[in-house]
Amino acid sequence: MPKVYNWQIGREMDYPYEAAYPEKQFGAVFDINKCIACQTCTLACKNAWTSGRGQEHMFFNNVETKPYGSYPLGWDVRLLEQLGGQSWSGGVYTGKTVFEAAPAGRAALGFLPEDEDWAHPNHGEDEVAGTIDTGAYFTLPHPVWMFYLQRICNHCSYPACLASCPRKAIYKREEDGIVLIDQTRCRGYRECARSCPFKKVLYNTVTRVSEKCIACYPLVEQGRQTYCTLSCIGRIRINGWVNFPDKAVLDSPVDFLVHGRKVALPLYPQFGLNVNIYYIPPIHVPSEFLLQMFGPGVPNAIDTYKRVKDDPELLGVLLLMGSTDKWIEKFRVKEGFAYGYDAKGDEVSRVPLKEPIYIRPDFNAATGAFLHNTP
Ligand code: SF4
Ligand code: SF4
Repeated sequence: MPKVYNWQIGREMDYPYEAAYPEKQFGAVFDINKCIACQTCTLACKNAWTSGRGQEHMFFNNVETKPYGSYPLGWDVRLLEQLGGQSWSGGVYTGKTVFEAAPAGRAALGFLPEDEDWAHPNHGEDEVAGTIDTGAYFTLPHPVWMFYLQRICNHCSYPACLASCPRKAIYKREEDGIVLIDQTRCRGYRECARSCPFKKVLYNTVTRVSEKCIACYPLVEQGRQTYCTLSCIGRIRINGWVNFPDKAVLDSPVDFLVHGRKVALPLYPQFGLNVNIYYIPPIHVPSEFLLQMFGPGVPNAIDTYKRVKDDPELLGVLLLMGSTDKWIEKFRVKEGFAYGYDAKGDEVSRVPLKEPIYIRPDFNAATGAFLHNTP
């Protein structure tokens, strides 16, 4: 099997195809700390892409509560159990990836969810890990905790869906690395749904072909961000191009968060897909859980995030999240403002690092009215 380099596990690994990279790679960062699980992103995506027949159970974007939520049911724990021990030595993963642990005749380790596993997308919502004892009080990390995990297709650099398709119906776009299914080639064998560790390929029982998140490519082609990002109430999301560390562009927001400050981490890097959606881990959650989910970069990411008030550039990029529907190619922080620029270098966003406070006088001389409601 060919070898490819996966920087997220710090080593080469087996992959069914030779390495081939797009000109640019679509990506995003989600700041878990700011999500309120309003599901606006989920519904924006559903309205845009999966409101047709056979798509009733489909959420290309979903937000689940950890530790107990999962859509489809048990997508993560079932694969983690199959994978067995997952060990790291420094920044190098020494266990097996889903490709290296694949059974004979298959491209990747995995399982096919049952129909009913898709039926409860809000299973476990807002359930906390444990019970609260009398007299308990908050410490950091919280002794009793939960957090929201926002999930879309990761548009992986080494996609398991693509690797496992016997029809070669799945492809990665050269211009932006978005992973798509050619529905005219697909015959609904569901090998992709079995192999995607994140279970982000779904089967349409009406059209009898598989479907997945398309990264809102019609918007991306116009220099706009995705619907889930545009609609996000918590302003936790930002889209951007993401590069391997040796080609990082540090005045580009996503590369800055991933490679510059290293606050944004891949989801389950040990699976080996070199994912392109990154997460700022929640600072209130015990590290054992987070280390398994986001790898060994967790302590550094949390430490850096907690010092954001002393880091104007990091603060600036976090404030640019959700500030515009335009794709921010570059950013700059100067004189108390963070600026976002598009591909032509035109300013598309400007946010103050410190929210200005305006104090209204309590008497309006023009109308002769007092602006308070007490006599
Ligand atoms: S997350 Fe799953 S569906 Fe998306 S590219 Fe990766 S393997 Fe394919
Ligand atoms: S819209 Fe934003 S804040 Fe609301 S659930 Fe989605 S990611 Fe979280």
